[in-house]
Amino acid sequence: MDNAIRCTICTWRGTESEAHGVNVQPAPLPPELEEIQRAYQEKQLEEEQLGGHHRLPTCPQCGRVTVAVHLHRSHAAL
Ligand SMILES: [Zn+2]
Repeated sequence: MDNAIRCTICTWRGTESEAHGVNVQPAPLPPELEEIQRAYQEKQLEEEQLGGHHRLPTCPQCGRVTVAVHLHRSHAAL
């Protein structure tokens, strides 16, 4: 299944297969955003180690952490 994901930094959203294989060098971020990125990465690493989730690809636009998008029925057409 091709999961919908979105970037935690920029406005990119798409599917996992779109983001796979794209290697973007992440641009420097302000410290407070770097902090958020670290928190996301730690959380994802934890989930990966628990075996529940596989690692999501990074954003193909800015190289930052992506999260799964939980589609609501009313927005499924987007
Ligand atoms: Zn991005």
